[in-house]
Amino acid sequence: MTDRFNFTQSLICVACGDILVDPITLSCGYTVCSHCFPVSSPISAKKAVFRCPVPHCESPKHLFGPELLVDTTVLELTNLLRNYLPNCSLPPSPCEEMDTNKNSINLVANAVIPLLTCRSCSSPVVEPTTTPCGHTFCRLCVLQFKIDTDQCITCYRPLPKFSNLLAQAPNHLIARVVKDFQLSGLLPCNTFQTPLLDSINLQQYNVPLFISGTVILPGQSFRLPIYAPNHLRTFRNSLIPSSRYNGLCLASVHRSRPQVAQFGTILQIIGVEHRNDTLIIDVVGVDRFKLENHEEQDETTLAANFEILHEASIRQLSIEIPNSPPANDHLGLQKQQEQVSQYTVDLAESILQFIHHLSKQSNMPAGSLHTQTAGLLGPLWLESMKSLHGPMPSKLNPTAVCWWAAVVLPVSHTDLYLLLRTVPIIDRLELVISWMQNLQSQWERCRSTAIHAFSQVAQQQQ
Ligand SMILES: [Zn+2]
Ligand SMILES: [Zn+2]
Ligand SMILES: [Zn+2]
Ligand SMILES: [Zn+2]
Repeated sequence: MTDRFNFTQSLICVACGDILVDPITLSCGYTVCSHCFPVSSPISAKKAVFRCPVPHCESPKHLFGPELLVDTTVLELTNLLRNYLPNCSLPPSPCEEMDTNKNSINLVANAVIPLLTCRSCSSPVVEPTTTPCGHTFCRLCVLQFKIDTDQCITCYRPLPKFSNLLAQAPNHLIARVVKDFQLSGLLPCNTFQTPLLDSINLQQYNVPLFISGTVILPGQSFRLPIYAPNHLRTFRNSLIPSSRYNGLCLASVHRSRPQVAQFGTILQIIGVEHRNDTLIIDVVGVDRFKLENHEEQDETTLAANFEILHEASIRQLSIEIPNSPPANDHLGLQKQQEQVSQYTVDLAESILQFIHHLSKQSNMPAGSLHTQTAGLLGPLWLESMKSLHGPMPSKLNPTAVCWWAAVVLPVSHTDLYLLLRTVPIIDRLELVISWMQNLQSQWERCRSTAIHAFSQVAQQQQ
């Protein structure tokens, strides 16, 4: 069509090398002909386990299929190609493409543009995501209507799991055609840029806040049930499509008196479940932010200006230490940085040692009583914490250690909020250590009381 791109080349099946016939798009983002997609056994048909027909596919697993409907966008593109461009049954040489007359270029372009436009936002599709029902939308658009209705807005079929939509690769073929058309000037460049939580700025303006009853820390997984219609409305109003976090987010602040808190956490939505009238939202904390000001937009929406807090890496820590002696030369500065890094790692290590200490079996004589009490604080406790909050981080990642320990230890919302608003990592680690010191005495007393109580019950039963 033009020297900038090769439309026909884009519509070739990566498996058989011919123009696509009844194209289907897999979750790895590749499009193949239906007949090039082998379904070998009934077991594989059920479990979505199959060998991808794309030789260079690097996806470890495919999220849905093999029962996929025809990719309607790609089908229409191949139909256009067959109708307007002659001799297209074989991959054409570049000269053949150049020979194609200008008229058919315009005809094709006019017919192609609506196909590359997202039905949801009416812009050229961004990060095209193709559902198993064969319809393609922008990635952020499909995530949005997964939450809204749980249906494809074109055919009303149910959508796959939210986590699958998140993990799905963009439709490579459509992404390439969109890019080629944009480079050729036939399609407008994407004006669709997420205005909030974009990838460039830490300073954010006019972001809707999500007021939560819980302090959620970075790295923490949390399940938000949304019940009542007004709650649902508030939730929808505070949803933020974000390019920075590549999905839908909430800017969550703890409901604290008399005004909203000064610090909050960006929550990334990683799971959505529709259960009758309840919406279950799985979120994970990503970054903290510091509020500058906020105002009520309407009854259900608070909008705020805030700064996303950039987490200092271990190497940058020395600047956070008050009263540290000025380093006169480069070597001195480097030495000072190394000391601070070491100190931070040491703090993280003592937190991890404390958690290991809590998870040790008690030194009670082995027996049935011990196995019951160990569940409160011993190895079972640590195992359940790991399954809830992920594996214990390494001491070389003090930031992760601090958040992980805070989620695992039994501390109040007030304490968690204090941690959230403490900026320097060393101060945060020291705060966690101060909790540990309080807990240690209390905890061991509780544990011996519990063991004592159990042993009395057992004696009475004998
Ligand atoms: Zn094929
Ligand atoms: Zn694949
Ligand atoms: Zn869209
Ligand atoms: Zn559909």
